Amino acid sequence: MKTTKQSKKITTTGLVIKTVDVGESNRILTLLCKDIGVVSAFAGGVRKPTGKLTPGCSIFVYSQFVLTKTGERYRVDEAVPQELFFNLRYDITSVALASYFCELLARSSLEGTPGETFLSPVLNGLYLLCKENPNYLLIKSVVELKLMCAAGFMPDFTEISCGHNGGVWFDYTGGNLICDKCRAQNTRFVGAKLSKTVLDALLYIVQSDIKKAFSFDIPQKDLKMLSNICEGYVAEQIEYKCKTLKSLKELLK
Ligand SMILES: [Zn+2]
Repeated sequence: MKTTKQSKKITTTGLVIKTVDVGESNRILTLLCKDIGVVSAFAGGVRKPTGKLTPGCSIFVYSQFVLTKTGERYRVDEAVPQELFFNLRYDITSVALASYFCELLARSSLEGTPGETFLSPVLNGLYLLCKENPNYLLIKSVVELKLMCAAGFMPDFTEISCGHNGGVWFDYTGGNLICDKCRAQNTRFVGAKLSKTVLDALLYIVQSDIKKAFSFDIPQKDLKMLSNICEGYVAEQIEYKCKTLKSLKELLK
């Protein structure tokens, strides 16, 4: 018996978070789409500079897509760039950070789950990376923490969860705060001790709207600590070590 797979057209906006070359001039794109989450889509002719789809199908470009879905496969029919994030491409550290954000997106969001809440921290981060002298560690910290909130791992920085006084530790596994004594009793503890400044910054990021979340001042030594903490929390929650992180950390030294 012959079965014909039905095709369906989908119009959505999305960020190109990964590209893999196939054949002579094509690519398979990983897109994080506003409505349909993460999908893989075939894009024909996009390695030719003159290809009709080329500008809208490049890595880190946010485009309006028309996709055709046949069975479980997607094909790109149209791609009109909405935001090229062109300037970040001149700076190797910005490219490394953008690559890390895209790897995090691919790990933390899912097909079928709307990508909007995941997209907004990353799009805002990429926008800031296009400006002059971006504050890399601050942008990194905010995107990491906001992505975890989007993925349903919002930490609770409002109170010490054990209810005791004496020291403030951020327990990455539980996503909460505990005291010195409870920290010492927990033999499997993964986390970090927080200074008042770092705790205030963490609380600010979690509680702020994404448009305001990047706007705070913090001394450089505390910022380094903040960045390490956000990174550690991500690693614990997604249970995965991002491949892009190694080269990024070299550049951020
Ligand atoms: Zn305690």
